[in-house]
Amino acid sequence: RAKADGRGTFCFFRDEMAQTVEARRILELDLRKALANEEFELFYQPLINLRSGKVSTCEALLRWNHPVRGTVSPVDIIPVAEDMGLIVDLGRWILRKACMECMKWPEAVSVAVNFSPQQFHQRDVLSEVRYALEVSGLPAHRLEIEITESSLLHNTQLTHDVLSQLRTLGVRISLDDFGTGYSSLSYLHNFPLQKVKIDRSFLEGIDSDRPLTLLRGVARLSADLGMSVVVEGIETNDQLELISADGAVTEAQGYLFSRPVPSVRIRQLLNASHGRRTDEQLHVIPSR
Ligand code: C2E
Ligand code: MG
Ligand code: MG
Ligand code: MG
Repeated sequence: RAKADGRGTFCFFRDEMAQTVEARRILELDLRKALANEEFELFYQPLINLRSGKVSTCEALLRWNHPVRGTVSPVDIIPVAEDMGLIVDLGRWILRKACMECMKWPEAVSVAVNFSPQQFHQRDVLSEVRYALEVSGLPAHRLEIEITESSLLHNTQLTHDVLSQLRTLGVRISLDDFGTGYSSLSYLHNFPLQKVKIDRSFLEGIDSDRPLTLLRGVARLSADLGMSVVVEGIETNDQLELISADGAVTEAQGYLFSRPVPSVRIRQLLNASHGRRTDEQLHVIPSR
């Protein structure tokens, strides 16, 4: 009986696996078409400078308007696109689109773009970035590239070279989701990084009894090393007060300020907070 059960279980898993494989195959086919069919869209979420109270940067966050499934989260898109090798083409589209959108914003506002490790380690990453700036006309100092700790796993000369070349170009590098990956504190001083984004998991329980020690420690260390410090995922005023207390945190991001919103909406938000621009231009994205 135990054996029969076991076999039944096995068959069940096998069926489910076949379904998963089929679902995955369809997803990959759909993803390939999506780029050509212009089904992707970028939403934007502001980062607030805690000193000025103004928006300093808006982070571009990918959305997929699937014709049947509706909106698909980047959490379901990015890993598949990475496996397929599509992330380089998709990443190129995201980078150029985000730079062009930023050109429509007040000059004081930068754009932050998430880079996958594959994208960051592609051979011509520097020319990709330079080209995106060139076609959009965006000054380098208004572009921030968000990488995660996994992009820094290979502590090679090449990684160092790419980071310092990007810095020479004038682009800022921001270490995203800090504290979720391998979290080596040595990353913070070994690599030329300008910003650290402390993951929102650091906020868990801070309203209750869990002390802020860890978050404050990482924030203070990063600030002392000359980096800007962002805390992600601020949802309540209490959290905002707690992280603002000792001055190490320079920016905050989270639903308390705004959820990620479509490009039309972010333009309205920025115009309202920074004053209007009259010379609004429409840009067309070149196909390559
Ligand atoms: P991330 O780069 O750390 O982006 C922050 C995520 O946290 C976003 O989810 C955002 O909507 C969410 N978030 C922001 N504030 C709050 C908050 O107060 N509470 C909660 N619970 N969540 C908050 P989203 O848009 O679903 O993106 C998820 C992840 O997908 C991103 O994490 C990033 O790793 C990846 N991703 C998104 N867009 C891109 C992209 O264009 N390229 C690449 N390579 N990855 C992307
Ligand atoms: Mg990010
Ligand atoms: Mg993040
Ligand atoms: Mg995250």
